Amino acid sequence: MSSDSTTAQEAITFADLGLSPKVLSAVTDAGYTVPTPIQAGAIPHALQGKDVLGIAQTGTGKTAAFVLPMITRLEKGRARARMPRTLILEPTRELAAQVEENFVKYGKNHKLNIALLIGGVSFDEQDKKLERGADVLIATPGRLLDHRERGKLLLTGVDILVIDEADRMLDMGFIPDIERICEMIPFTRQTLFFSATMPPEITKLTEKFLHAPVRIEVARAASTATSITQRLVKSGPKPWDKREVLRDLIKAEDEGLKNAIIFCNRKIEVSELFRSLVKYEFDAGALHGDMDQRARMQMLDNFRSGKLKLLVASDVAARGLDIPDVSHVFNFDVPIHAEDYVHRIGRTGRAGRSGKSFTIATRNDTKYLDAIERLIGQKIEWHDGDLSTVVAREESEDSPRRERAGRGGRDRDRRSREPRGGRRGETAKPADLAEAPQPIAAANDERAMRRDAIRHDNAARKAPDRQEPRRDNRRQRDEDDGRPVLGFGADMPAFMLVAGKV
Ligand code: AMP
Repeated sequence: MSSDSTTAQEAITFADLGLSPKVLSAVTDAGYTVPTPIQAGAIPHALQGKDVLGIAQTGTGKTAAFVLPMITRLEKGRARARMPRTLILEPTRELAAQVEENFVKYGKNHKLNIALLIGGVSFDEQDKKLERGADVLIATPGRLLDHRERGKLLLTGVDILVIDEADRMLDMGFIPDIERICEMIPFTRQTLFFSATMPPEITKLTEKFLHAPVRIEVARAASTATSITQRLVKSGPKPWDKREVLRDLIKAEDEGLKNAIIFCNRKIEVSELFRSLVKYEFDAGALHGDMDQRARMQMLDNFRSGKLKLLVASDVAARGLDIPDVSHVFNFDVPIHAEDYVHRIGRTGRAGRSGKSFTIATRNDTKYLDAIERLIGQKIEWHDGDLSTVVAREESEDSPRRERAGRGGRDRDRRSREPRGGRRGETAKPADLAEAPQPIAAANDERAMRRDAIRHDNAARKAPDRQEPRRDNRRQRDEDDGRPVLGFGADMPAFMLVAGKV
């Protein structure tokens, strides 16, 4: 395995890399002049047809590092029906869609047929695109294999294979699928392989399927950007303690908080926290692995465009999303896997901008905190005193005891004084929203959007999408832990919201 310089040479421009004039013109139109280190390192080798092993996180510009040379190489030759010329494997639908956007952006001077094979959408449209002949096929592993099994797809014409986010593929149990797919593609292909970290299973995979790859490592996978101010925030152990800490933090950041991603370890926590934030009238949306494609895309669009300020997400759902300029990251849960900490906080402080991350920690989290600090090679400062200074908080409104008391007892007075829906006045409660019939609402109607989000959240909880099943026994980060929900949680039954006599 040869090795390349890990630092960007300032003098290098895109024009020096050997890309075609049409690709260069699209790069210029995108506003980029200086290649990032992964681009400067990978593009010349990829153009020569060599295998590349890129060790790089999202945010480093790694997508263009494979998209630009691919488009240049695709200028020669054309696609045949059902025989795609190139294949890019992505672990999630969002990442696959983002790669497609990159091909559209950088391929604007080309007539590329691009097919996107992802779960959660119908096979018919995808079949048509394959039938027309795809220059570029972007797929998640499960859906790709489904198409192949239906006899609609031949992989023998693939000249370039890209495996992106390999370590996340490992986490999601996709490695056996990747191995099967690699074995279906001619040995003579070029393989471009990207991973943020190199656990042993991934090293084994590269040894099996890459031929004398050029290794390009752009930053230590464990490094965190210096532009991020990282803080730990003490909390009591219960979810409602943490929710109150989070609310206080968000309020204290005030105007400085432009937008934030709030990470939870499990999708049930994503769901509960999202509902709680909405109940407290925060401008929040949720993103987790069980939401259908349309709901996820819409949620992301709303967040990107600034219609939503807070996005509650799980690691799997948020992995690799290209959301520029997030001012804050909150870890509602300390991640169990230390490297997830690096990925999570890497959502802020991008491209030299300053960002802030707050990690809410309880006494049960100390061993995970130790592992994170070991991995990033630094101590993280406490925001307002360490765990030895935790004091029991007053019960908050979303603690189960307070909710129970509120329903039958001391909250009754307040309810009878206020309009139906409690303090929200005109605005309905989440469960109220969830039960309401679908409105014909404008896309920018905030209430409609939130109602939609809650409906999707409800649907996802009832009928998880099984398009991309896990195929091994690794523990899933994004899964429910089966803990009972105390009281009614935020799932207030409809009968409790029926207007009473005032
Ligand atoms: P990626 O690591 O591929 O997810 O890219 C992260 C972000 O960097 C995306 O918003 C890209 O549009 C942007 N980007 C890609 N290449 C460059 C470049 N050469 N200069 C500045 N930004 C870039």
